Amino acid sequence: MKKKKDIEKPNIMERNKTFHRRKIWIISVVVITCLIGLMGRLVYLMVFRSEYYTKLATDLQQREREIKAARGKIIDSTGTVLASNESVCTISVIHNQITDPEKVIEVLCSELGLSEETVRKRVEKVSSIEKIKSNVDKETGNRILSYGLDGIKVDEDYKRYYPFSDLASKVLGFTGGDNQGIIGLEVMYDDYLKGENGMILTTTDARGIEVEDTPEVRQEPISGNDLYISLDYNIQSYCMQAAEKAYIAKEADGVCILAMNPQNGEILAMVDYPEFDLNDPFTLNEAYSEYTGTEQEDEYRNKMWRNWCVSDTYEPGSTFKIITTSAALEEDLVSVEENFYCPGYIMVEDRRIRCHKTTGHGSENFAQAIQNSCNQVFIIMNLATDVSRKVKNCKSCTNMYVISRF
Ligand SMILES: [Zn+2]
Repeated sequence: MKKKKDIEKPNIMERNKTFHRRKIWIISVVVITCLIGLMGRLVYLMVFRSEYYTKLATDLQQREREIKAARGKIIDSTGTVLASNESVCTISVIHNQITDPEKVIEVLCSELGLSEETVRKRVEKVSSIEKIKSNVDKETGNRILSYGLDGIKVDEDYKRYYPFSDLASKVLGFTGGDNQGIIGLEVMYDDYLKGENGMILTTTDARGIEVEDTPEVRQEPISGNDLYISLDYNIQSYCMQAAEKAYIAKEADGVCILAMNPQNGEILAMVDYPEFDLNDPFTLNEAYSEYTGTEQEDEYRNKMWRNWCVSDTYEPGSTFKIITTSAALEEDLVSVEENFYCPGYIMVEDRRIRCHKTTGHGSENFAQAIQNSCNQVFIIMNLATDVSRKVKNCKSCTNMYVISRF
């Protein structure tokens, strides 16, 4: 027995040793595998996903506040500024920084003239920054600042300002709360005028509270480009007065005047009376004021903003006679010495078209026909021009059209 025990002892020890060695080896392999895995993960996070996590961290640590860019001016051909900017403020609240919400709500309601419900909703909303009101005048902004309440931000901002309020209102157009163009040139050239907004970046901790003694990073805004237009302030003002006179005298629904430079087609004046106040574009003007507060208010507001000169069609009527005459003279289809006879009507195909003088202008020469604005003669010229064009376009045509004259 004794002998047997002696023999068994080293065997057990040997077995234990092998067992431990195997355990250590397994643990080492597990640990090393884990380490390699962790290192791999770290490399993945730090190298391949670095951009993504940097952005997330920046978003969490930095709060952005926009600084509006000054919109470009609109300047007429005489150098008169028709649209410029006024310094105003934008009031915002930062939820996490508010220490006395009731006082903040009270001050904002009374200073900004907003309902308690609106302000409360924004103050109590858990967000990084909440805009309360833009286009607040500087005095009100300073008064709000003087309360020294935590969590209220007053940022400098610009508001569109039109020095001549209703001059060329439908041509210039106006801007909305975010300084974006709504109608007219303001929306047509919005990309040129708007500029690029800047940014104020502040560092915050995980609770969204600004870290003290860290500098604010400012990305300065880039001002918009100025827009130079062919409109002439003096001609526009004169045309507006003339339109107003006609509007009253004729009890008209509206009066349009369009003054163009005949050499190049530049628009010197475009009046669409009654105009509206560009500094208060949502209030109905005098012509439509009776619809304020009614269901049709929106409809009439759109009507008030509509620029008839460019948005509506209008039969050119006798104004087109200048073009008919020029075309016929240029094509040598009529000479100034030519004589005509107007019996008061003319047959075109199967239609009998009357002259505006139904008894007829009788015998008249070309110059008199122009003076009389005789429909008859202009129809003849128009037909002649049309036939001449057809003949020119049709090379195989051998038949000449005979233009009958009276
Ligand atoms: Zn006639």
